[in-house]
Amino acid sequence: MPELPEVETTRRGIEPFLSGQTIARVNVRESRLRWPVELPDHLSGSVVKSVARRAKYILIETATGALIVHLGMSGSLRVVAPNDAPRLHDHIDIEVKHGQWLRYNDPRRFGSFHFVEHPSAQHWLLKNLGPEPLGNEFSGDYLFATSRKRKVAVKNHIMDGKVVVGVGNIYAAESLFRAGIRPSTPAYKVSRLAYRFLAEAIREILANAINVGGTTLRDFVGSDGQPGYFKQSLNVYGRQGEACNVCQAQLKLQILGQRSTVYCPTCQTFSGWKRPVC
Ligand SMILES: [Zn+2]
Repeated sequence: MPELPEVETTRRGIEPFLSGQTIARVNVRESRLRWPVELPDHLSGSVVKSVARRAKYILIETATGALIVHLGMSGSLRVVAPNDAPRLHDHIDIEVKHGQWLRYNDPRRFGSFHFVEHPSAQHWLLKNLGPEPLGNEFSGDYLFATSRKRKVAVKNHIMDGKVVVGVGNIYAAESLFRAGIRPSTPAYKVSRLAYRFLAEAIREILANAINVGGTTLRDFVGSDGQPGYFKQSLNVYGRQGEACNVCQAQLKLQILGQRSTVYCPTCQTFSGWKRPVC
């Protein structure tokens, strides 16, 4: 599933091809995505002002509103030559007047397209989202303040899109490892100091993933259109039963909020005042 770094990489990949372009038409070959795709006629003829991102939504902004695109479980966008023959699962084309077209492919059809008039932030998909993890509102103090009455596991707290957006399972597990925090610790028991380490870890890991993704940008004009789902060096995610990279202890698997979580029983003991030795 595309996570925040892949979505940001997609945004950066398509923006140079769309920004400033006039949309000639949006050709919907398959409207049965997660929600039926119903786009207004006036999109044709409007000029793309910019391509932005909010959480895992790509916002193709025009003078009157924004086309909100979500990649769902298996969606991808690629840039194709005009009139390039569509392939299986190529559901939507954004055709521009002078330039290359943007094409949406989605085998599982969990993605979505909505057009919303400005202010787009008030759209029901966007209005209840928490702050961006790489933005100024997000910090350890913010995580601490939002967790004081929450008994859910700290991992579920940081994966809650109303608290902070875009921290998926991989990034949550890896950030908790880097901060030395046991994922099952109740959110209210994690100290301010520990949350500061955690917020820093989340930012670093996401920023690094976006940087790694930058090296795959050329793929957006490639033949397969699958933006790279980056090979990152993972410390815990998907490594249950293997040896911890730091202390060699065997990594453990736990189910939290119906998601599997891998952690190091030795390195991840931190919830309060002292960082673990290793
Ligand atoms: Zn360890």
